[in-house]
Amino acid sequence: MLISYKFRIYPLKTSEAKLNEQLEICRWLYNKLLEEVNKARKEGRKICWKDTQALIVRLKQEKPELKNVYSKVLQMVNYQLWSNIKALNELRKKGKKVGWLRYKTSPNSFKTLNFNQSGFKIDFERKKLVLSKIGEIPIKLHRPIEGRIKGVIVKKTKTEKWFAIVQTEVESKSLPKTGRVVGLDMGVNHFCVDSDGIAFENPKFIDKTLEKIKRVQKELSRKQKGSKRREKARLKLAKLYEKLNNQRLDFLHKLSRYYVNNYDIICVEDLNVKDLVENGNSPTLNRHIHDSAWTKFHTLLVYKAERAGRRVVRVNPTNTSKRCANCGYIVKNISLKDRSFACPNCGWEADRDYNASLNILDVGLGRSRTPVERESLSLVIPYRKVIEGQVLSMKREAPSVRAE
Ligand SMILES: [Zn+2]
Repeated sequence: MLISYKFRIYPLKTSEAKLNEQLEICRWLYNKLLEEVNKARKEGRKICWKDTQALIVRLKQEKPELKNVYSKVLQMVNYQLWSNIKALNELRKKGKKVGWLRYKTSPNSFKTLNFNQSGFKIDFERKKLVLSKIGEIPIKLHRPIEGRIKGVIVKKTKTEKWFAIVQTEVESKSLPKTGRVVGLDMGVNHFCVDSDGIAFENPKFIDKTLEKIKRVQKELSRKQKGSKRREKARLKLAKLYEKLNNQRLDFLHKLSRYYVNNYDIICVEDLNVKDLVENGNSPTLNRHIHDSAWTKFHTLLVYKAERAGRRVVRVNPTNTSKRCANCGYIVKNISLKDRSFACPNCGWEADRDYNASLNILDVGLGRSRTPVERESLSLVIPYRKVIEGQVLSMKREAPSVRAE
């Protein structure tokens, strides 16, 4: 399987100029190839990646600067275009309303140079990343690299920092079985609540950063367009987002690690189906942050599970919060404001998300408790307390994530 490592790189002025120039050339190429695809679509011609690939060779006559970029990097621009097209088509197949690809019109909107298979070398002794048609760039190798290196993606962030994402191929290592299974309910009040009665909250410092983001966003909207102050606020905002992402990623790494280490089977809701509910008066920013955190969490969970020989089961979330985990009775008019679940049929009372997590576990394992079975269960069920989990004290995990 492929894993990725992210290392900060520090290009000198001349290399940085080359990197920036190459990014702009790639942006030009991306737009040119997209234009070709659009033309073919308009004329009703079939077009595939091989056609645009062949076009790159011809374009080198028209724009000799293309020769300043390593040829495989140019090919990967084509690859990126076609994976974007594929992603759109898949969304459409799922019935989502999607538009069409836009041109990358603004400078700096192309941010990665993808050295796939060749055109790069890492000099571990001298701590340099050597790139074809660019040269040597100092790299901070803060951790050892495991596996065979397959490629390097050079990335520029909004705050003008440079990173090398090193992709390697490694063999998976199975963890010993624990004999335990778990269901997870993702929520807004808690990040998640599991069927063992543990709730994980979003770490407080993430909320703090989020508050700051909201403040700076307001500031930004008040500043005059094109002004120096606006630019300053924009950069401040980008830095805060970067901080938020780092904090969140660290939390999500630890949380997914916790579940993968402790459980053989992890049942989660299928987020594609999950009915995402707006919570009260919170602005869409919160919503957006939560959604993307859940998606990221799933990606990390699946990735870590795969590597450790664990199973992640995606469950259709329909009724998981309306169904009584004890007797199977479905409470139709459950209010989203209710934090607890009380079954009118059997008397079971529990934290709402905890009840849902039990259902998710049941569905994930293919167990179902039907209303008939309730006769055999005791009616005196204690209210199950949910305890707060703590993952933040865990050692910081190496930030290796699957490439996006
Ligand atoms: Zn019940």
